Amino acid sequence: MLFTTKWLTTFLTDYQGAAQDAIAVDAVTTDSRQEVKKALFIPLEGEKFDGHDYVKQAFDNGAVAVIWNKQRPLPRFLPTDFPVFFVEDTLTALQTLAENYRDKIDPTVIAITGSNGKTTTKDIVAAVMKSSYRTHYTNGNFNNHIGVPLTILSMPIETEVLVLEMGMNHFGEIEQLSILSKPDFAIITNIGESHIEYLGSREGIAKAKLEITQGLKQNGLLLIDGDEPLIESMHKRDNVITCGFENSNDVIIESVRTNHNETVFNLSDGHVYHIPLLGKHHAKNAAYAVALGSRLGIDKDVIKQALQTLTLTSMRFEIMTGTNDVSVINDAYNASPTSMKAAIEVVKQMTGFTDKVLVLGDMFELGDYANELHRSVAAVIDDSITVLFTLGEHAEEITKAVEQHHPNITCNHFTSQEALTDALGPYLKKDALLLFKASRGMQFESFVNAIIHP
Ligand code: ATP
Ligand code: MG
Repeated sequence: MLFTTKWLTTFLTDYQGAAQDAIAVDAVTTDSRQEVKKALFIPLEGEKFDGHDYVKQAFDNGAVAVIWNKQRPLPRFLPTDFPVFFVEDTLTALQTLAENYRDKIDPTVIAITGSNGKTTTKDIVAAVMKSSYRTHYTNGNFNNHIGVPLTILSMPIETEVLVLEMGMNHFGEIEQLSILSKPDFAIITNIGESHIEYLGSREGIAKAKLEITQGLKQNGLLLIDGDEPLIESMHKRDNVITCGFENSNDVIIESVRTNHNETVFNLSDGHVYHIPLLGKHHAKNAAYAVALGSRLGIDKDVIKQALQTLTLTSMRFEIMTGTNDVSVINDAYNASPTSMKAAIEVVKQMTGFTDKVLVLGDMFELGDYANELHRSVAAVIDDSITVLFTLGEHAEEITKAVEQHHPNITCNHFTSQEALTDALGPYLKKDALLLFKASRGMQFESFVNAIIHP
């Protein structure tokens, strides 16, 4: 049981039916299609659907109480004693309920935001916390104004540590999530260029991420990417731990190496850590988890073990073997300039391949900065790369920039998936490594699927 309807009446004061009885609620749901026993159903209004129209289905699927927009007529089929809580706005009610439930359970709350690496860092932090505490954490990428409250409301009452991923597109969104979840610890993984279209500049992006401090407890601790001067210069808190590669950081990452199946690094605490993820940037994501784990009294050996045996919700940066034993990195889930550069850095760091082929596509939501930011990717490409293929409206800028500076790299821009697929033929061989990276809408997973499942 999470709570009773009686508890709801302490802050949702307009109600009818047997609301004041201690009817047990085992789950909160906004999805009428799922069979959820003893659920509180909260109908949300979307662009296409209104959850209020599906209350019969929710009732049939196990709802024992409902929150209801008071402007709407209540359907007649509901029994007169069925608990109904009337509100002005059901989304606001969901968020208020989450805030109250968070306070009722009062776990140690860790909130994670940043342009890239939120989900990965959330999974790493959760793995470390799980080693020693009853830990509840965001499922997948459920990180917005609905996902965060629902994550809070799915936490078992015995939860000791709650790890929340917080995402955003616009100003004010992280502030709202931070205020309702009142973190004890907050992490800003990095500042990139994602959503620059809405936020105007990198300073705007940093400002939006720093909203995570709005709800951070008075004595709460902020962990940031210390290699990013923007966050350093903009935050106003004393209680900060910086993590990064530069010597000025509180937690310094030293001698990072990436091999076929893991990244190994030293921290300034004198310990060596292994994570089954590829790329320097994951050493930083793991450093946040180590710093937090130590703060919460977890033994270093236990932390090391948790990192080494990590399994992620979805391995976004997975190396797979395809046609003719070619090695393929499928990073086609999403792309921003920072994550595309990070992926290329990993390819550069990897040894044992005679051909390294980058297949890059358009990154979306970059607005007026699109061409410039696509060109900026060229800066990290060096002569350890043999081939660069691009596809899309803006990705041609990468090819143009690389062609100018690296005559040794075979560069080609394509206007169709078919032509690009044909050009890949000669590189489907054992000693070649192929990286696929683009925004989701470019559907690069279809290339990967064709190579992995011919
Ligand atoms: P989303 O906005 O989709 O929720 P996210 O912030 O949760 O993204 P992840 O899903 O963890 O990010 O990773 C997305 C991409 O960012 C991956 O391709 C990964 O290679 C890259 N990445 C992960 N951590 C970092 C980092 N610290 N700095 C730069 N890039 C990173
Ligand atoms: Mg995510």
